[in-house]
Amino acid sequence: MAALLPAVVALVACVPATGQPPDPAVRAVATYSVIADLARRVAGERADVVSLVPAGTDPHTYEPRPDDLRRVAGASLVLYNGFNLELWFGRLIAGSGTRARIAVASRGVTPIVIRDPLSRYHGAPDPHAWMDVRNVIRFYVPNIREALTIVDPEGAAIYSRNAQQYITELEGLDASIREQVATLPAARRKLVTTENAMFYFAAAYGFQVVGWIYTLAPESEPPARRITELVERIRRERVPALFVDLTLNPKLMERLSQETGVPIRGALYIDSLGKPGSGADSYAGMMRANVEVLIRGLGGPGS
Ligand SMILES: [Zn+2]
Repeated sequence: MAALLPAVVALVACVPATGQPPDPAVRAVATYSVIADLARRVAGERADVVSLVPAGTDPHTYEPRPDDLRRVAGASLVLYNGFNLELWFGRLIAGSGTRARIAVASRGVTPIVIRDPLSRYHGAPDPHAWMDVRNVIRFYVPNIREALTIVDPEGAAIYSRNAQQYITELEGLDASIREQVATLPAARRKLVTTENAMFYFAAAYGFQVVGWIYTLAPESEPPARRITELVERIRRERVPALFVDLTLNPKLMERLSQETGVPIRGALYIDSLGKPGSGADSYAGMMRANVEVLIRGLGGPGS
Protein backbone atom coordinates (compact mmCIF):
# COMPACT_ATOMS: atom_id res chain seq x y z
CA MET A 1 0.00 0.00 0.00
CA ALA A 2 2.76 2.36 0.99
CA ALA A 3 4.39 1.84 -2.43
CA LEU A 4 1.16 2.80 -4.22
CA LEU A 5 0.64 5.98 -2.32
CA PRO A 6 2.93 8.36 -4.29
CA ALA A 7 1.21 7.35 -7.56
CA VAL A 8 -2.20 8.03 -6.08
CA VAL A 9 -1.06 11.39 -4.75
CA ALA A 10 0.35 12.29 -8.18
CA LEU A 11 -2.96 11.37 -9.87
CA VAL A 12 -4.98 13.40 -7.42
CA ALA A 13 -2.67 16.36 -7.91
CA CYS A 14 -3.53 16.42 -11.63
CA VAL A 15 -7.23 16.93 -10.97
CA PRO A 16 -7.92 20.20 -9.18
CA ALA A 17 -10.59 20.11 -6.48
CA THR A 18 -12.91 22.22 -8.65
CA GLY A 19 -13.47 19.26 -10.98
CA GLN A 20 -11.66 20.99 -13.84
CA PRO A 21 -9.95 18.72 -16.39
CA PRO A 22 -6.18 18.25 -15.99
CA ASP A 23 -3.86 21.01 -17.13
CA PRO A 24 -3.50 21.24 -20.91
CA ALA A 25 -0.14 20.21 -22.40
CA VAL A 26 0.32 23.73 -23.79
CA ARG A 27 -0.88 27.09 -22.58
CA ALA A 28 -0.87 29.14 -25.75
CA VAL A 29 -1.56 32.83 -26.16
CA ALA A 30 -2.34 34.23 -29.61
CA THR A 31 -2.27 37.96 -30.18
CA TYR A 32 -5.61 38.13 -32.05
CA SER A 33 -8.58 35.98 -32.98
CA VAL A 34 -7.45 34.79 -36.44
CA ILE A 35 -4.21 33.26 -35.14
CA ALA A 36 -6.07 31.86 -32.12
CA ASP A 37 -8.48 29.99 -34.41
CA LEU A 38 -5.65 28.51 -36.51
CA ALA A 39 -3.86 27.43 -33.32
CA ARG A 40 -7.00 25.78 -31.92
CA ARG A 41 -7.46 23.80 -35.11
CA VAL A 42 -3.87 22.52 -35.04
CA ALA A 43 -3.72 21.95 -31.28
CA GLY A 44 -7.13 20.37 -30.79
CA GLU A 45 -7.73 19.43 -27.16
CA ARG A 46 -4.07 19.46 -26.19
CA ALA A 47 -3.71 23.20 -25.80
CA ASP A 48 -5.59 25.94 -24.09
CA VAL A 49 -5.52 28.84 -26.58
CA VAL A 50 -6.54 32.37 -25.65
CA SER A 51 -6.67 35.45 -27.87
CA LEU A 52 -5.50 38.75 -26.41
CA VAL A 53 -7.30 41.14 -28.77
CA PRO A 54 -11.03 40.39 -28.47
CA ALA A 55 -13.02 39.65 -31.65
CA GLY A 56 -14.25 42.88 -33.24
CA THR A 57 -11.35 44.98 -31.92
CA ASP A 58 -8.58 46.49 -34.07
CA PRO A 59 -5.32 44.61 -33.43
CA HIS A 60 -2.99 47.33 -34.76
CA THR A 61 -3.72 49.92 -32.10
CA TYR A 62 -4.71 47.57 -29.28
CA GLU A 63 -3.52 48.52 -25.82
CA PRO A 64 -2.54 45.43 -23.78
CA ARG A 65 -4.18 45.24 -20.36
CA PRO A 66 -2.68 43.97 -17.08
CA ASP A 67 -4.60 40.71 -17.64
CA ASP A 68 -2.78 40.21 -20.94
CA LEU A 69 0.60 40.56 -19.22
CA ARG A 70 -0.44 37.88 -16.74
CA ARG A 71 -1.61 35.55 -19.52
CA VAL A 72 1.63 35.98 -21.46
CA ALA A 73 3.68 35.49 -18.28
CA GLY A 74 1.87 32.18 -17.61
CA ALA A 75 1.99 30.89 -21.21
CA SER A 76 4.26 28.21 -22.62
CA LEU A 77 3.74 29.44 -26.20
CA VAL A 78 3.01 32.90 -27.61
CA LEU A 79 1.93 33.15 -31.26
CA TYR A 80 1.85 36.41 -33.16
CA ASN A 81 1.41 37.43 -36.80
CA GLY A 82 4.47 39.63 -37.28
CA PHE A 83 5.16 42.11 -40.12
CA ASN A 84 4.31 44.82 -37.57
CA LEU A 85 0.65 43.88 -37.27
CA GLU A 86 0.94 43.99 -33.49
CA LEU A 87 2.65 47.34 -33.00
CA TRP A 88 2.50 46.73 -29.23
CA PHE A 89 4.02 43.22 -29.21
CA GLY A 90 7.60 44.05 -28.17
CA ARG A 91 6.38 46.09 -25.21
CA LEU A 92 4.02 43.31 -24.14
CA ILE A 93 6.69 40.61 -24.19
CA ALA A 94 9.26 42.76 -22.39
CA GLY A 95 6.72 43.86 -19.79
CA SER A 96 5.50 40.33 -19.07
CA GLY A 97 8.93 38.81 -18.38
CA THR A 98 7.60 35.63 -20.01
CA ARG A 99 9.79 32.60 -20.66
CA ALA A 100 7.34 31.19 -23.21
CA ARG A 101 8.43 30.09 -26.67
CA ILE A 102 7.57 32.92 -29.07
CA ALA A 103 6.66 32.02 -32.63
CA VAL A 104 5.85 34.25 -35.59
CA ALA A 105 3.01 32.65 -37.55
CA SER A 106 3.79 34.38 -40.88
CA ARG A 107 7.43 33.21 -41.02
CA GLY A 108 8.39 32.37 -44.62
CA VAL A 109 5.68 34.49 -46.29
CA THR A 110 7.01 36.73 -49.05
CA PRO A 111 5.68 40.09 -47.89
CA ILE A 112 3.80 42.50 -50.07
CA VAL A 113 5.31 45.94 -49.53
CA ILE A 114 3.13 48.90 -48.55
CA ARG A 115 3.14 51.56 -51.28
CA ASP A 116 1.91 54.86 -49.93
CA PRO A 117 4.36 57.77 -49.93
CA LEU A 118 1.90 59.66 -47.70
CA SER A 119 2.28 57.09 -44.91
CA ARG A 120 5.09 56.47 -42.47
CA TYR A 121 4.64 52.77 -43.31
CA HIS A 122 5.63 53.30 -46.95
CA GLY A 123 8.04 50.50 -47.86
CA ALA A 124 7.19 48.39 -44.79
CA PRO A 125 5.76 44.87 -45.14
CA ASP A 126 1.98 44.61 -45.31
CA PRO A 127 0.98 42.34 -42.38
CA HIS A 128 -2.37 41.02 -43.74
CA ALA A 129 -0.86 37.86 -45.25
CA TRP A 130 -3.62 35.54 -43.88
CA MET A 131 -6.05 37.06 -46.40
CA ASP A 132 -4.48 34.71 -48.98
CA VAL A 133 -5.56 31.21 -47.92
CA ARG A 134 -2.46 29.72 -49.58
CA ASN A 135 -0.25 31.61 -47.10
CA VAL A 136 -2.15 29.99 -44.24
CA ILE A 137 -1.75 26.56 -45.85
CA ARG A 138 1.94 26.93 -46.65
CA PHE A 139 3.19 28.99 -43.72
CA TYR A 140 0.82 29.78 -40.86
CA VAL A 141 -0.40 26.24 -40.17
CA PRO A 142 3.05 24.58 -40.53
CA ASN A 143 4.66 27.27 -38.34
CA ILE A 144 2.04 26.79 -35.63
CA ARG A 145 2.38 22.99 -35.84
CA GLU A 146 6.15 23.29 -35.48
CA ALA A 147 5.91 25.65 -32.49
CA LEU A 148 3.41 23.38 -30.70
CA THR A 149 5.63 20.35 -31.37
CA ILE A 150 8.69 22.07 -29.92
CA VAL A 151 6.81 23.05 -26.77
CA ASP A 152 5.05 19.67 -26.47
CA PRO A 153 6.98 16.95 -28.33
CA GLU A 154 4.66 14.23 -27.00
CA GLY A 155 1.82 15.75 -29.00
CA ALA A 156 3.75 15.71 -32.29
CA ALA A 157 1.62 13.05 -33.99
CA ILE A 158 -1.62 14.76 -32.96
CA TYR A 159 -0.48 18.17 -34.19
CA SER A 160 0.70 16.68 -37.44
CA ARG A 161 -2.61 14.88 -38.05
CA ASN A 162 -4.71 17.94 -37.10
CA ALA A 163 -2.61 20.21 -39.32
CA GLN A 164 -2.96 17.86 -42.28
CA GLN A 165 -6.73 17.62 -41.88
CA TYR A 166 -7.05 21.37 -41.56
CA ILE A 167 -4.86 21.99 -44.61
CA THR A 168 -7.12 19.71 -46.66
CA GLU A 169 -10.11 21.76 -45.50
CA LEU A 170 -8.31 25.02 -46.36
CA GLU A 171 -7.44 23.74 -49.84
CA GLY A 172 -11.17 23.24 -50.36
CA LEU A 173 -11.80 26.77 -49.10
CA ASP A 174 -9.21 28.25 -51.48
CA ALA A 175 -10.72 26.36 -54.44
CA SER A 176 -14.25 27.45 -53.56
CA ILE A 177 -13.18 31.12 -53.33
CA ARG A 178 -11.69 30.84 -56.83
CA GLU A 179 -14.88 29.24 -58.17
CA GLN A 180 -17.05 31.97 -56.70
CA VAL A 181 -14.82 34.82 -57.86
CA ALA A 182 -14.88 33.37 -61.39
CA THR A 183 -18.61 34.19 -61.50
CA LEU A 184 -17.79 37.91 -61.12
CA PRO A 185 -16.75 39.75 -64.31
CA ALA A 186 -13.11 40.85 -64.04
CA ALA A 187 -14.05 44.48 -64.67
CA ARG A 188 -16.14 44.48 -61.46
CA ARG A 189 -13.48 43.01 -59.18
CA LYS A 190 -12.50 46.37 -57.68
CA LEU A 191 -11.81 46.93 -54.02
CA VAL A 192 -12.18 50.06 -51.95
CA THR A 193 -11.95 49.28 -48.22
CA THR A 194 -11.32 51.23 -45.03
CA GLU A 195 -7.79 49.90 -44.51
CA ASN A 196 -5.14 48.94 -47.08
CA ALA A 197 -5.60 45.36 -45.98
CA MET A 198 -6.70 43.60 -49.17
CA PHE A 199 -3.52 43.35 -51.25
CA TYR A 200 -2.80 39.68 -50.44
CA PHE A 201 -6.43 38.78 -51.10
CA ALA A 202 -6.47 40.78 -54.34
CA ALA A 203 -3.25 39.23 -55.63
CA ALA A 204 -4.43 35.71 -54.76
CA TYR A 205 -7.97 35.91 -56.14
CA GLY A 206 -7.72 38.35 -59.03
CA PHE A 207 -9.06 41.63 -57.64
CA GLN A 208 -7.73 45.15 -58.15
CA VAL A 209 -7.20 47.32 -55.06
CA VAL A 210 -8.44 50.75 -56.12
CA GLY A 211 -7.94 52.51 -52.82
CA TRP A 212 -8.38 52.80 -49.06
CA ILE A 213 -8.69 55.36 -46.30
CA TYR A 214 -6.21 54.19 -43.65
CA THR A 215 -2.71 52.89 -44.33
CA LEU A 216 -2.04 50.25 -41.65
CA ALA A 217 -3.97 51.06 -38.48
CA PRO A 218 -6.55 53.79 -38.18
CA GLU A 219 -4.84 57.15 -38.42
CA SER A 220 -6.62 59.90 -36.53
CA GLU A 221 -6.69 62.02 -39.68
CA PRO A 222 -5.80 60.38 -43.02
CA PRO A 223 -3.93 62.76 -45.36
CA ALA A 224 -6.36 64.91 -47.34
CA ARG A 225 -4.52 64.13 -50.58
CA ARG A 226 -5.12 60.39 -50.16
CA ILE A 227 -8.87 61.02 -49.90
CA THR A 228 -8.98 63.44 -52.85
CA GLU A 229 -7.09 60.97 -55.03
CA LEU A 230 -9.33 58.15 -53.85
CA VAL A 231 -12.46 60.05 -54.89
CA GLU A 232 -10.96 60.54 -58.36
CA ARG A 233 -9.97 56.89 -58.67
CA ILE A 234 -13.39 55.62 -57.57
CA ARG A 235 -14.96 57.67 -60.38
CA ARG A 236 -12.34 56.89 -62.99
CA GLU A 237 -12.36 53.14 -62.31
CA ARG A 238 -16.18 53.00 -62.12
CA VAL A 239 -16.00 51.14 -58.81
CA PRO A 240 -19.34 49.34 -58.31
CA ALA A 241 -19.35 49.37 -54.49
CA LEU A 242 -17.42 50.35 -51.38
CA PHE A 243 -16.79 48.14 -48.32
CA VAL A 244 -16.05 48.89 -44.69
CA ASP A 245 -13.90 46.88 -42.26
CA LEU A 246 -15.78 45.51 -39.27
CA THR A 247 -13.06 46.58 -36.81
CA LEU A 248 -12.86 50.19 -38.01
CA ASN A 249 -15.05 53.27 -37.78
CA PRO A 250 -17.16 53.52 -40.98
CA LYS A 251 -17.68 57.32 -40.79
CA LEU A 252 -15.12 58.36 -43.40
CA MET A 253 -16.28 55.66 -45.81
CA GLU A 254 -19.85 56.93 -45.41
CA ARG A 255 -18.66 60.42 -46.38
CA LEU A 256 -16.80 58.97 -49.35
CA SER A 257 -19.95 57.16 -50.42
CA GLN A 258 -21.98 60.39 -50.24
CA GLU A 259 -19.37 62.30 -52.20
CA THR A 260 -19.01 59.73 -54.99
CA GLY A 261 -22.54 58.35 -55.05
CA VAL A 262 -21.11 54.82 -54.86
CA PRO A 263 -22.93 52.71 -52.24
CA ILE A 264 -21.35 50.85 -49.32
CA ARG A 265 -22.39 47.27 -49.99
CA GLY A 266 -21.14 45.47 -46.93
CA ALA A 267 -18.58 44.95 -44.18
CA LEU A 268 -15.52 42.70 -44.30
CA TYR A 269 -13.78 40.62 -41.65
CA ILE A 270 -10.08 41.29 -42.05
CA ASP A 271 -8.25 41.92 -38.76
CA SER A 272 -10.67 39.92 -36.63
CA LEU A 273 -13.04 37.00 -36.68
CA GLY A 274 -16.73 37.67 -36.16
CA LYS A 275 -18.43 37.25 -32.80
CA PRO A 276 -19.57 33.73 -31.81
CA GLY A 277 -22.64 32.74 -33.83
CA SER A 278 -21.95 35.25 -36.63
CA GLY A 279 -20.89 32.49 -39.06
CA ALA A 280 -17.56 34.29 -39.29
CA ASP A 281 -16.30 33.04 -35.93
CA SER A 282 -13.64 30.88 -37.59
CA TYR A 283 -10.95 31.69 -40.14
CA ALA A 284 -12.70 29.66 -42.85
CA GLY A 285 -16.06 31.18 -41.90
CA MET A 286 -14.69 34.71 -42.06
CA MET A 287 -13.20 34.13 -45.52
CA ARG A 288 -16.48 32.62 -46.78
CA ALA A 289 -18.45 35.56 -45.35
CA ASN A 290 -16.11 38.05 -47.06
CA VAL A 291 -16.37 36.38 -50.45
CA GLU A 292 -20.15 36.30 -50.19
CA VAL A 293 -20.28 40.03 -49.34
CA LEU A 294 -17.87 40.93 -52.16
CA ILE A 295 -19.63 38.88 -54.84
CA ARG A 296 -23.04 40.19 -53.85
CA GLY A 297 -21.80 43.77 -53.43
CA LEU A 298 -19.85 43.98 -56.67
CA GLY A 299 -22.67 42.60 -58.75
CA GLY A 300 -22.26 38.87 -59.16
CA PRO A 301 -25.18 36.44 -59.46
CA GLY A 302 -28.09 37.15 -57.15
CA SER A 303 -27.09 40.75 -56.47
ZN1 LIG B 1 -5.22 45.67 -40.53
